[in-house]
Amino acid sequence: MRQEEDERHARPDEGLNHVLGQVAAQLVRRYLEGLPEQVGALPLQISGLEEILQAEIPVTLPGGDTLQLRLYGIADRLDELPDGRLRVVDYKTGLVHAHELRLQKRGEDATAATQRLLTDATPSADKVRQLWLYRFMLERSGRPAADAAIISLRNLSAGPMTADMGFLTEDGTSFLDKGQELLTNFVHRILDPAEPIRKTDDLLRCQYCPYKGICAR
Ligand code: SF4
Repeated sequence: MRQEEDERHARPDEGLNHVLGQVAAQLVRRYLEGLPEQVGALPLQISGLEEILQAEIPVTLPGGDTLQLRLYGIADRLDELPDGRLRVVDYKTGLVHAHELRLQKRGEDATAATQRLLTDATPSADKVRQLWLYRFMLERSGRPAADAAIISLRNLSAGPMTADMGFLTEDGTSFLDKGQELLTNFVHRILDPAEPIRKTDDLLRCQYCPYKGICAR
């Protein structure tokens, strides 16, 4: 049975897997070769790879009950910056530009950017949200990250592109307290019966959705 099972799955060194493996090796080589040209990229001190992050957040519901919200994620890479602080890094295989990670547009106040972080269904907001949650989980475990960045494998020359989250603490609230506040609002919204359930605008998500058969998307 084991042999049959093995035969059903393509081996890592065959067919498309082999081609993808070669492409990945080339991208990694190109990334490493480009590091000396990036200002401030070296010395690179990696303090973690594929690190599992998790946190349990007590959220007070409108009725007074407390819900334990569990957050979980895997950070691709954690760097130790020259001053000893941490940077959480996420790799993206697709093309990402630095401006996509700026949720606060020029001349806008922090409220608009915060709202975007919380509710926008755009790929840019998704990326920043992911990094924000990584930073939040790290800080909850006593390891605050000074920076959160994306490395786009199709835009390697840009280096780590920072997702600026300064708007979250612009009013003087700490990063952790603001995170707790936003997650509480988020949970309230999810559980609000008046909030309509909408289909996502991001069709890429539907690709692997287990409900696509009944969703009629
Ligand atoms: S297929 Fe899934 S992800 Fe796409 S709209 Fe339907 S439920 Fe949402």
